[in-house]
Amino acid sequence: MRKREKYVTLESDEKLTHGHGINKTQIRSNHAIPAVRLHKRSPGRCAIGARDEKAVAAQHEGIVIRSTGGHSLVRVNDTTWRCELRGKLKKGPRAAQTVAVVGDRVRLTVIDANNEPPSGVIEEVLPRDNKISRLAARRSGGQVEQVLMANLDQVVAVQSLREPAPQKSFIDRLMVAAERFDVKGVLVLNKVDLVPAGPELAAEQKVWNYFQELGYTVIWASAETGEGTEEMRNILTDRISLLIGASGVGKSTLLNVIQPGLRLRVNEVTEKTGLGKHTTTRTELFPLRDGGFIADSPGIRGFDPWDMEPLAVRDYFPDFQEPGQSCHYRTCMHRDEPRCGVKDAVVRGRIPVRRHGAYLALLADLEERKAEVGYR
Ligand code: GDP
Ligand code: ZN
Repeated sequence: MRKREKYVTLESDEKLTHGHGINKTQIRSNHAIPAVRLHKRSPGRCAIGARDEKAVAAQHEGIVIRSTGGHSLVRVNDTTWRCELRGKLKKGPRAAQTVAVVGDRVRLTVIDANNEPPSGVIEEVLPRDNKISRLAARRSGGQVEQVLMANLDQVVAVQSLREPAPQKSFIDRLMVAAERFDVKGVLVLNKVDLVPAGPELAAEQKVWNYFQELGYTVIWASAETGEGTEEMRNILTDRISLLIGASGVGKSTLLNVIQPGLRLRVNEVTEKTGLGKHTTTRTELFPLRDGGFIADSPGIRGFDPWDMEPLAVRDYFPDFQEPGQSCHYRTCMHRDEPRCGVKDAVVRGRIPVRRHGAYLALLADLEERKAEVGYR
């Protein structure tokens, strides 16, 4: 792995493209991200950090770990940089708040490498592999996309089985979003120690094993007894994960078991960089010791997937696919239509009534949205 270069001397005017685009393996394994050298326009030599436009400015590639208004924190190797966004980016095709989100890979120019933290300007946001977005708010004349994160491998819903009780319809929606944005869906059910063995536990197993049969990974966990924490660590290692869970479900306690001190380091970063602490609803990305990153996205309660046509929703329910083959109408929405294979499956108990209900509710929401301002 190359060291970060303090001074750059250039032999040619050719743009050095190597290292462009951090590959996922590097991010996953939390290895150093190679610095990128920028070509210079005229011969000569120059020190990094010079503000002269004609000078060679050192550049790095990194991953956005936090984004607050106009400022972002960018992780380059093991160092966190505080960066502003180059003005021209704000005028680009992406809406202002989605220009550079957590998980985005960016190219930055050094302003001051010796600052504490070092500072830079984000020049370019590299193309995304994927993203996960929801409807942020309704505004007059339009709706706003909130990109929670870019370039992720999986979305991990953390719920507690008791205190508070799980929100099943939220899980349904989140898994729909996972399908829609083509990321893996994982479910962590914490506080299993609070569910008495016997009929109560059996009832929970019935609900959640269904999700497992649909292809989602389901982990039964307890931060109290340690059950499932090893499994959770395994599933997080070397991957980029978005964790979503209401407060009180035990997410912090679980993460602390998985990586002691994780929270502590989070606060250190916050203090050092001076970025406000009152950004609790913002997603933030943390490197894991054994490789990979987790994004914590506190305060997310509802999830209206962004950019989804009502007719497409049925495609994001894996359990509707096979019964849907026998619907009389090809465009059956599995709602009021006669001879509907999905409704038959509900009647026969193959699809839980609750699950079909979650589908109908989401469908109704999307139709209402479409009636307001188009399908988004
Ligand atoms: P967060 O808001 O999701 O980060 O939740 P916390 O980690 O702060 O936990 C909320 C409460 O649940 C705390 O009182 C924890 O001690 C408790 N808690 C967390 N995990 C478990 C668990 O597995 N079993 C039990 N019984 N309590 C837990
Ligand atoms: Zn149907």
